[in-house]
Amino acid sequence: MCGIIGYLGERVAAPVLLDSLQRLEYRGYDSAGVVVLGQDGSPMLVKSAGKVDALLQRIDGEELLGRVGMGHTRWATHGRPTYDNAHPHTDCRGQFFVIHNGIIENFAELRRELQAAGHTFTSETDTEVLPHLIEEYYAGDLVAATRRALGRLRGAYAVVVLSSTDPDTLIGARLNAPLVVGVGQKEWFLSSDLTAIIPYTKQALVLGEGQMVVLTPVGPVVTSIVDGTELAPRVVRVEWDVIQAERGGYPNFMSKEMHEQPAALENALRGRLLADGHVEFSDWGADDRLLARFQRVQIVAAGSAFYAGMLAKYAIEDLAGLPTAVEVASEWRYRPQPVDSATLTIAISQSGETADTLAAARLAQERGGFVLGLTNVVGSTLALEADGVINLHAGPEICVVSTKTFVNQVACALLLALRLAQVRQTRDPGDLRELATALRSVADVQRQVLSREQEFVPLGAWLAEHRGALYMGRGYSYPAAMEAALKLKEVSYLHAEAYPAGELKHGPIALLDPEMPVVAFATESATREKTRSNIQEVCARQSPVLAVVSDGDRSLVDDVQFTVEVPRVPEIVSPLVNALVGQLLAYHAAMIRGCDVDRPRNLAKSVTVE
Ligand code: GLU
Repeated sequence: MCGIIGYLGERVAAPVLLDSLQRLEYRGYDSAGVVVLGQDGSPMLVKSAGKVDALLQRIDGEELLGRVGMGHTRWATHGRPTYDNAHPHTDCRGQFFVIHNGIIENFAELRRELQAAGHTFTSETDTEVLPHLIEEYYAGDLVAATRRALGRLRGAYAVVVLSSTDPDTLIGARLNAPLVVGVGQKEWFLSSDLTAIIPYTKQALVLGEGQMVVLTPVGPVVTSIVDGTELAPRVVRVEWDVIQAERGGYPNFMSKEMHEQPAALENALRGRLLADGHVEFSDWGADDRLLARFQRVQIVAAGSAFYAGMLAKYAIEDLAGLPTAVEVASEWRYRPQPVDSATLTIAISQSGETADTLAAARLAQERGGFVLGLTNVVGSTLALEADGVINLHAGPEICVVSTKTFVNQVACALLLALRLAQVRQTRDPGDLRELATALRSVADVQRQVLSREQEFVPLGAWLAEHRGALYMGRGYSYPAAMEAALKLKEVSYLHAEAYPAGELKHGPIALLDPEMPVVAFATESATREKTRSNIQEVCARQSPVLAVVSDGDRSLVDDVQFTVEVPRVPEIVSPLVNALVGQLLAYHAAMIRGCDVDRPRNLAKSVTVE
């Protein structure tokens, strides 16, 4: 999620590190830091909250002359974006330094263990456990201590470690997070992102999951973290230029972020959805007593977050039996319904800065309500002001329209619904476990859909031939259809509206003719047969239909123009898949029309005005 850069070689490290951090900043970060080792191993550490520019100002005039060092731009997941929480993190004696990308799931228990052993922590991050663990295990062998410390971590990490005990060594390791090794002339780079190293070298070493690399002036040695077996890494030549590298080789950020969804979804579940199906929010720390107190739920949100809010309502009502209202924040703030201490108000905002959503959240708090924020930005106003926060953990989203943050909003809402159901004991534990298993399998389903992206190219082109489209669905597919229609409007400028499939004949059916395509979500659900009948009604009016169905469902092929088959999943998690289908359709319609998908006209990423 963050930017990592490490350097070991014959140049002065600092300019390389700072230049790379600036190159990584396109993703929008919240704090930064560097550490460089002098010839004698003395560490020079500079950190700053805010942008890389703020770090540069701090460094101004400081002499960072070492040839080994590392730098980090943080995208906070655990702890606010403050100076103390900025990486690199270090141990009690300031000997071992660590930068980290990802989430250490079991940090709370490790932290308690280390504190009991006498270690003092100076940050709120999950990361800080690692330098203390290395300190704990260090007995003269840095590599052995690091290997043992890494063996204690669960979760996702790309880390770089350096130590004043070994001024000629830089260690990198990865598990469920990217890390590449750049190979230059007698110099080596470690980075989370090819972007950072491409100006220096086009040779890279592919580090696999669970692998560790030790860089010294004689070259890299790659081993397995678990048992230390030496491995022969694959060397690749990167042909990208800098711009392509920023987008990870994708043509634009929308495409990159659509493809990041499975990994982002896994991050949202990491450490929260436990193996036995239980849900825990370590970042929120909500206890059962608090959750049991709520008698009703009020959701406020805007845009895609509002559709995620509708899905949250469905899931909370279905699983936890709590009456839930959802309203567009700009409406609710001027006609707020009653809120009291038994009302859980959920404010959903990707940026955490959406003006209307913030205003609604403040109003709910003034009235004595408890506000839970769902946001992707840890240090945002919503995160700071809310009484509890669930961080979306989607990583930075650059494209103006939301893709992976929508999916993670829905995933976090499902987790919350599960947790409420567990606390309130409203559903059979076996059913909830099944749902947890389904939720865990969705990332792979998304991967399968993404691997068939080519199928969506002609479908997008077909939509683009028309002036607009209607979308329809029932149950959980109705909000999914609304989100899909919004995506089409946002990126392709084609008109699109979504209706509950049963509503069509109450008005919109008048729009149907051969010129009006209809996208129908008819995947496995309690109301699939009903949706099928509605599709027949559309076909009878000669509108061409694109039906999204579950794998193997051939029942509509004779009636509709196109079918898109997606793997069969339980209805409650189906929006996590159908949203992706909607994105791919919108994306390819927009590409054919030559639209700038990353910066659609008239739109802003975070709407900080009313
Ligand atoms: N979890 C770590 C933190 O919150 C690393 C976040 C990142 O990937 O930047 O500090």
